[in-house]
Amino acid sequence: MGIEEKLPAGILLGQVEQLVGLVRKASVWPATFGLACCAIEMMAVGGPKYDIARFGMERFSASPRQADLMIVAGRVSQKMAPVVRQVYDQMPNPKWVIAMGVCASSGGMFNNYAIVQGVDHIVPVDVYLPGCPPRPEMLLDAILKLHEQIKGEKMGAHKVAAEREAEERALVA
Ligand code: SF4
Repeated sequence: MGIEEKLPAGILLGQVEQLVGLVRKASVWPATFGLACCAIEMMAVGGPKYDIARFGMERFSASPRQADLMIVAGRVSQKMAPVVRQVYDQMPNPKWVIAMGVCASSGGMFNNYAIVQGVDHIVPVDVYLPGCPPRPEMLLDAILKLHEQIKGEKMGAHKVAAEREAEERALVA
């Protein structure tokens, strides 16, 4: 009996997916992107005390085309909303979003006409992080939770989601 018959079906693909997940989670590059006070706490994780470099993430990318994580740090004004969407669209797949702080997650205390009541009205969010502002340790915790999610993701899952999203946008337009 050959090795192919002895192996359970799908074992090779499963292991490749696990390997890709491990590599992806170890090479997430955030976009340089801060909107308000939460961004100060986000910047702190880049320093030696919180040391985001230990996760291979110290390279905050000035170009969205070289980033795969958007940390929305702060309230999103209506004027800023199209810019946030444009930055997200310019990021290559697969890509992830953390809504950092209560303002980015739900509008927070800014329940008024000028502020988008949650960045998930504009882009899909993978992790919601509460707090005003969340401490750097909380952001690191959110990043570790995102890493777990990335590790378990099926290959191509983001592509399918992106195609579905494009179809929905075409229907709205
Ligand atoms: Fe500022 Fe608090 Fe809103 Fe963060 S959650 S942007 S710290 S008001």
